[in-house]
Amino acid sequence: MGLLDRFKAQRELHAQVKSCGADPFGVKMEKILSATEALIEGRPTILCGSNNYLGFTFDADCIEAAKETLDTCGTGTTGSRIANGSYHDHKALEQDLADFYGMKHCMVFTTGYQANLGAISTLAGPNDFLIIDADSHASIYDACKLGSATVIRFKHNDPADLDRRLGRLANEPGNKIVVVEGIYSMLGDHAPLKEFVAVTKKHGAYILVDEAHSMGVMGKTGQGVVEHDGVLDQVDFITGTFSKSMGAIGGFLVSNIEDFDILRVACRPYMFTASLPPATVASVRKSLAKLRANPGLMQKLWDNVDTLYEGARAAGFTVGAQKGPVVAVHINDPALAARAWRALLLNGVYVNLALPPATPSGTALLRCSVSAAHTKEQLQSVVDVLSGVGRELGILPTPAHAVAA
Ligand code: PMP
Repeated sequence: MGLLDRFKAQRELHAQVKSCGADPFGVKMEKILSATEALIEGRPTILCGSNNYLGFTFDADCIEAAKETLDTCGTGTTGSRIANGSYHDHKALEQDLADFYGMKHCMVFTTGYQANLGAISTLAGPNDFLIIDADSHASIYDACKLGSATVIRFKHNDPADLDRRLGRLANEPGNKIVVVEGIYSMLGDHAPLKEFVAVTKKHGAYILVDEAHSMGVMGKTGQGVVEHDGVLDQVDFITGTFSKSMGAIGGFLVSNIEDFDILRVACRPYMFTASLPPATVASVRKSLAKLRANPGLMQKLWDNVDTLYEGARAAGFTVGAQKGPVVAVHINDPALAARAWRALLLNGVYVNLALPPATPSGTALLRCSVSAAHTKEQLQSVVDVLSGVGRELGILPTPAHAVAA
């Protein structure tokens, strides 16, 4: 058996997608034109499948902060946070985030993936239990594999199922840590966090919330679902990323837990990788400062969400149940979804093609996402192109007058 023969499922999926003329894993952005537009296959294309929720990738102040730091601190730290990789700004960003969440402690990681990997695998020990939502992101599943705790899954967004599963652990002496996400990255739905917190506390467990897609998006000041649901003071750990609303890269963990700093010498995905480039840290500090100074930035995002979500729904598509910057257009048939994805790209619209087994419940999705930097015209164009492709491929019914003609 060849070394790579076991990747049969991935090979088949890729072949199936390619047979529809699509190559979603091979898209190349030839030139980035703005936060919402790039040249792909020589065509100016609207980017409606990024996570650039506040459009900070091209914010002039963030760019300026990064440029200045590039000049003063160089291109990289060439070391980990516990060796030569903690610069002034890494510590300052940790303080900024602790202040933003009103928590005592923060650790900054090199990616959001590593923040989950590190936090979850280190917090839960060999006699402990991780009780995770079944639709958890890969970083949460991988954290479970890296750690040594017993892992139990509960039904997606189902507090009653969580209650049952925690109930069965009542006589177990180990610590229990519940892990949920704020907004889920594929379907765009968000956790019923108030209910989850109540169930968690009833059973004396801890709760960690990954606000990757909800920081800078939900809550009055942008803290995420913890703020939207008014439970910040009851949540034990929050992880998040700088690769979405913050427009850069990196991740974090905040908490009030006693003895937090011991994690810095116990958490391997923090200890054994190089720290963030200082220019990136500077741009994230600027994005966070801008969000804090002007939480009204989120209003533009939500106005834009209305345009895309309501537009796609009015056109006749089945969209995710909860309105938010991730707008999941359900196609169900993977081959049809791949053809639709390709047709959108040919018409200047880039979205994410999400196929089983990567998608929850095995559904095929055109995962669209909204940015505050999109113009109304861009989003209207996305809705128009989606509708045209939907009709052409028989996903949407052809209007009666068109049939008569
Ligand atoms: N958590 C969730 C829910 C995510 O969707 C992602 C990225 N898609 C991550 C964590 C990892 O973030 P990063 O890109 O910073 O590694």
